[in-house]
Amino acid sequence: MIDILRTADEVRARVRAIHRKGQRLALVPTMGALHEGHLSLVREGRRLAEVCAASIFVNPAQFGPREDLSRYPRDEAGDVAKCASAGAAFVWAPDTREVYPEGYQTYVEVSELSRRWCGEKRPGHFRGVATVVAKLFCAFEPDVALFGEKDFQQLAVIRRMVRDLGMAVEVVGMPIVREADGLALSSRNIYLSATERRSALGLSRALQAAAHLKANGETSASRLVEAASAELRAADARVDYVAVVDPTTLEPMDLVDRPARMLIAAHVGKTRLIDNAAL
Ligand code: AMP
Repeated sequence: MIDILRTADEVRARVRAIHRKGQRLALVPTMGALHEGHLSLVREGRRLAEVCAASIFVNPAQFGPREDLSRYPRDEAGDVAKCASAGAAFVWAPDTREVYPEGYQTYVEVSELSRRWCGEKRPGHFRGVATVVAKLFCAFEPDVALFGEKDFQQLAVIRRMVRDLGMAVEVVGMPIVREADGLALSSRNIYLSATERRSALGLSRALQAAAHLKANGETSASRLVEAASAELRAADARVDYVAVVDPTTLEPMDLVDRPARMLIAAHVGKTRLIDNAAL
């Protein structure tokens, strides 16, 4: 079985040994409850670097006061076994005090990209994400870090942070891994009852409906949003937002005459789900 490191000092010692051998290091940050989406990042990390490591940390700083921090699924032993089978060399699973020591007060804020969409619906979320990823990059100094397009706004925020702070890490975005019926894999899918699981399909169906309309010549963002929203309503999913955005700035678009991304967040029962696709 692979090593589980607990402290940042242990990570630094391990990383120094890797770099001394002239090897490249890839990092896959996660919150655990791992599935094929996470493992696709680990496998690609192994392809891009000699050594791939994963971190497992349910980051309190990115959860709002009324969110699911306390019930977020945790399975460290299972996660470590999955990381090993996907080719990770070691895992960092720190406790909260290791990441946020007593008196902690330093945060990273990516202002514009964090303003809209999930940033508006989850105040402070991206500040928590950017901060923890910056801390991970400080400990690992990875050559490459891999993130899923599943969290499209998060990926944009991290790319911007790396550019703005001049961090020497290559950020790689990976395609969304889905179930055969289209549902995007998510650690939160285990919250869903059988009925809710059917409603959750509304998100991928909504994206497909919009992409289909777009392929047939529709260029009005509001009509694409309306078509997607109708699918969500039909599935009994409660829309949080549906947007057509510029893939880099995440600013809303009116006329879809260039590459665009549709972003969706919706509630199914008590569970908030997100999904997105190129249009
Ligand atoms: P999380 O554990 O949810 O914070 O996710 C850790 C990383 O895995 C993030 O970069 C996510 O975007 C990525 N990820 C989560 N779900 C998927 C998926 N279905 N396909 C691809 N990447 C994913």
